[in-house]
Amino acid sequence: MNVRSELLSQLPLRENLRGLSPYGAPQIDVPIQLNVNENTHPLPQTVIDAIAQEVSKAAATLNRYPDREFVELRELLAKYLGHDLDRENIWAANGSNEILQQILQAFGGPGRSVMSFGPTYSMYPLLASGTDTEYIAGQRADDFTLSADSAAAQVREHTPNIVFLCSPNNPTGTALGLDVIEAVYEAASETNAMVIVDEAYAEFSLANTKSALSLLGGRQRLIVSRTMSKAFGLAGARVGYLAAAPEVTDAIRLVRLPYHLSAVTQATAIAALKNVDLLLAQVEEIKTQRDRIVSTLTELGLKPSVSDSNFVFFGGLDDPHAIWQGLLDAGIIIRDNGIAGTLRVTAGTEAETTAFLERLTELLSAQK
Ligand code: PMP
Repeated sequence: MNVRSELLSQLPLRENLRGLSPYGAPQIDVPIQLNVNENTHPLPQTVIDAIAQEVSKAAATLNRYPDREFVELRELLAKYLGHDLDRENIWAANGSNEILQQILQAFGGPGRSVMSFGPTYSMYPLLASGTDTEYIAGQRADDFTLSADSAAAQVREHTPNIVFLCSPNNPTGTALGLDVIEAVYEAASETNAMVIVDEAYAEFSLANTKSALSLLGGRQRLIVSRTMSKAFGLAGARVGYLAAAPEVTDAIRLVRLPYHLSAVTQATAIAALKNVDLLLAQVEEIKTQRDRIVSTLTELGLKPSVSDSNFVFFGGLDDPHAIWQGLLDAGIIIRDNGIAGTLRVTAGTEAETTAFLERLTELLSAQK
């Protein structure tokens, strides 16, 4: 134990936080950063200018608290999502991580549980600890797929209060069929449990993949969580949001901090949403690079998963750490999620993707 962790252990920290490490992929300043699934394209200048203008307007009123209900932002988000949603269906927060935390604060807590199906987004268990909610680790098949029957049976067996379904799933990249979400919702209905579909990467989905937004009608305990951090290229702005029945947003209002979404954040998101077509113009290019990664890795004899997202999870590596380090030595950082024989890479610009594929090819041939 180092000195700081010894000092930390002297504090009256909650028992379930003892020994935990804070979440965080390494933030290493290298030229090619393909490790946290950001949109690596720079924002279009028109959008930068629009944000600067809207933020400048907001700056003039920063002596006042912001609109606690962020009405204009909710209206624009509802319009963006479609599916007959209106602002009463929408809630937003500082990143979808905060959305998920608020859901746990409202529906989880001591004596309650949340279930997810691993390998999945590594923040789920940490958000559970932070809200004193028991975390139940459900299982996927060996190829990381999750069938409707298996998911529903596991929910019936463990009777969690909340189920998190990540679709497309991080780190494996694959989306769930709507049949899985319907079956889980039905199983969860037996115990009045909430079902959250985390669609952080939905905009990158393959053509035949459907969003769970289409299932919201008539399902009071279903929540779809989204973010502006990925496809919109606004990870730095910290804006996540959810769509659900209006009464779900009322439940979240009970736990949110007043004025949690700053005037600057609201102005940024509003300006971005007014330019949504420009922002999302890069999505098709990112999907092209994603598909290129999948086909090149297959040619290299590796085993990439089908990806509905802006990243590719790939197996078939004898020594993933050596590959990860070899890439880093060349100024390229990707993600080691600690799953045996695998790594994950974000689809970057064409040049970044080329640099990654070329260096990877060299490293693999040096290993032979
Ligand atoms: N859900 C998933 C599946 C993610 O991968 C991430 C980001 N890594 C998030 C939620 C949170 O993103 P943000 O807080 O930036 O919206």
